[in-house]
Amino acid sequence: MYMYKKTKKLLLLSISIGFIVALSSWGFLVHRTINQLAIYELPSPLNDFFYQHKQYLVYNSVRPDLRRNKDKTEATKHFVDLEAFEHDHSQMPVDENDAIKKYGEDSLKKYGYVPYYIITMMEKLTQAFKQRHVDSIIFFAADIGHYISDANVPLHTTLNYDGQLTNQKGIHALWESTIPEIELKSMDFYGKDQAKFLKTPEIQIWDAVRQAHALLPNFLAEEKQVSSRFTDDEKYNSSFRNGKEYKKYSGKFAKALYQSLKPTIENQIKASVSLVSDIWFTAWVNAGKPDLSKLTKENATIDYKKELKSDLEYYKTKQLIENDRLLSLQKNKSSDESE
Ligand SMILES: [Zn+2]
Repeated sequence: MYMYKKTKKLLLLSISIGFIVALSSWGFLVHRTINQLAIYELPSPLNDFFYQHKQYLVYNSVRPDLRRNKDKTEATKHFVDLEAFEHDHSQMPVDENDAIKKYGEDSLKKYGYVPYYIITMMEKLTQAFKQRHVDSIIFFAADIGHYISDANVPLHTTLNYDGQLTNQKGIHALWESTIPEIELKSMDFYGKDQAKFLKTPEIQIWDAVRQAHALLPNFLAEEKQVSSRFTDDEKYNSSFRNGKEYKKYSGKFAKALYQSLKPTIENQIKASVSLVSDIWFTAWVNAGKPDLSKLTKENATIDYKKELKSDLEYYKTKQLIENDRLLSLQKNKSSDESE
């Protein structure tokens, strides 16, 4: 949790005010959703293997964010502040070594290097496939799903990551947590893609980052536009903790902004899902398409093939939620930490 301090004179007591900001990534709900949906875009028999490990892939989709609490080097793997590197970010090298030569390692570690880190993780996933090492495959697959999804969040591509430079503090959590938590059930996040082999994954990853970045001006403008229809009291919810006031965009505001942005957020979820499945698939192909059927869990008690088949049907007919098949929305199965 990251807080801003600011004095609010209107309050009788001069107490500091903060914004509740989860400067992490898509909220937990969306990360879990993306890792599950990506399984459905994989071809057979790869989807079969991934589906068996669905629970693991979904619940560990948020592990990189949890790691940030303990590991100081973790945070900058989740974003890239494009403006810090280049005025014209099309000039940024897609290869990490070229970027290190151009900007220095310290700059990358300071302003973020998610596009390069995805490639590092992809190489590890490829190795894991080559070794047919189940634990490593699902470990890297879960993690890479997280980083790819972060790379598709506009606010993960900018120095103005929380609207702090444009007087719109709190927009980070608004985009990736507040809005999806309210609206996910009504979103059409179903893609039609089948995982593709990516000859140059670094280029596709950079395309995704740039495409996310290109959404920023409109997002910031819409926030201002919608704000003009709200009073401050309607726009924010306040709560008090330890003598401090914390502000968060209200549900009412989130709903209104969602309507005016539509379908931007669901499109970014779809883009994340596609790229996650493309990268999983590409790593498997690069590893020589190992036969994973031999790695089936010996004690698999559920008839996962049948379950996968019905899930695929629900995915096609956009009915996963109606049939309670989205793990991220299932109560008591996701009763772990929140942001
Ligand atoms: Zn993250």
